Amino acid sequence: MSGSWEAVIGLEVHAQLLTRTKLFCACATSFGAPPNTHVCPTCLGLPGALPVLNGEAVRMAVRTALSLGCTIKESSRFARKNYFYPDLPKGYQISQFDEPFSEGGYVEFEVEEAAGPGSDAPSTTRRARLTRIHMEEDAGKNLHDLAGGSVVDLNRAGTPLVEIVGEPDLRTPAEAAGYLRALRDVLVFLGVNDGNLEEGSFRCDANVSIRPAGSSTLGTRVELKNINSFRFVEKALAGEIARQRDVLESGGRIVQETRGWDEKTSSTFSLRSKETAQDYRYFPEPDLPPLHLDDAFVATLRATLPETPRAKRERFVSELALSPYAAQVLTQHPRVAAFFEEAATLSLDAVAVANFIQGEVLRDVTTSGVEADFPVSPGQVVEILKLVSQGKISGKQAKEVYAKAKGTTASPAALVADLGMAQVSDPAAIEAACAKVIADNAKQAEQYRSGKTGVFGFFVGQVMKATKGSANPQLVNETLKRLLGA
Ligand SMILES: [Zn+2]
Repeated sequence: MSGSWEAVIGLEVHAQLLTRTKLFCACATSFGAPPNTHVCPTCLGLPGALPVLNGEAVRMAVRTALSLGCTIKESSRFARKNYFYPDLPKGYQISQFDEPFSEGGYVEFEVEEAAGPGSDAPSTTRRARLTRIHMEEDAGKNLHDLAGGSVVDLNRAGTPLVEIVGEPDLRTPAEAAGYLRALRDVLVFLGVNDGNLEEGSFRCDANVSIRPAGSSTLGTRVELKNINSFRFVEKALAGEIARQRDVLESGGRIVQETRGWDEKTSSTFSLRSKETAQDYRYFPEPDLPPLHLDDAFVATLRATLPETPRAKRERFVSELALSPYAAQVLTQHPRVAAFFEEAATLSLDAVAVANFIQGEVLRDVTTSGVEADFPVSPGQVVEILKLVSQGKISGKQAKEVYAKAKGTTASPAALVADLGMAQVSDPAAIEAACAKVIADNAKQAEQYRSGKTGVFGFFVGQVMKATKGSANPQLVNETLKRLLGA
């Protein structure tokens, strides 16, 4: 973006809560089930069916709000948001309007300054305010690509959502991406959402406007809908900001509207002109009483909040001496963080555990939502590293033992015995190997003794070769130094 314009971005995120049942009925929440197999009179909107609020959804929503620093309102109310759409059988959505259950709060996030995530480029910490978080029910889904034409699938109708409404505090597409990642991490570590943009369980709409840099008034905003991957967030926002700049610089004006992102043309396109809030004819939901969240209920939930991923990262660095990069990698998924912590607790050498998990284990881990599958147990990792620290196997052999242990419950110590790969730590055997290498390479030994210490690595290499990599490297180093008379 050129220096004369500044973008103003606010994000609205809809996150599906991982409850077993829907927000107002006992139907199972499910993804990928045959259409219309998880429906009942309530979520089908049949006359006379009454909603009953799901307590677990309320607990998850309140935990979400508490984790993000929101104020919980003692009394809130559900409202009907009226609009007509085929996937909304009641003709209205039950949401919260002027009396949401929470207000305020913020998201703390990192912005990668130049390179992408995972790089060592410096990142800075920012904070963006939240307006509110409220609860609402999801709509159904129109499926258009079935062989028989289109169907309306109401399995998703009534799935509990939290809508997390951000203030327009973001200024660049990179900030928006950082905000979204941080928000998703908080929800996934809380266990209230699976963070899946592609399957639509974590959805993002963005309000974007631009204004002359330095101005404090807001330009006309455009709503970008359904940005369904982290990869598209930055591209879609950058595309829309560039479009608005072109319009304004060529003397046009921005129209308030809703636009979509077309990946093929890398540009946004108009979906519809913006409805105003009045179009929804909100009124209090007559079938549900006001929601009361008393202090004791909120305090109980607050007391059981898990550590946030950000706090975890900071602790991994300050208490366990991990690098910020390692802490970042090991907190990308709650199960990975838990696996690392369990192994670190068992081993007392957190850095060695972190290195081994990053170097070996992570490439074999598969994650799905909040679940993850590990090739080995934390105990197996710790046992492998213990064999290394005791000098029984080398670092190279540790990788081989890991490869054999994958997918089994075998004890690494037993595998080492079976494979006959115990490291040579017998001083006499190592001394014999070192002496032979020195005798066979008298010229290099002379060079070393005359001060060319750079050849030391050559001797280590020869000894490791002679022992097929099984010699204890530290012992080899010590023995060679002694024999070479350094
Ligand atoms: Zn139902």
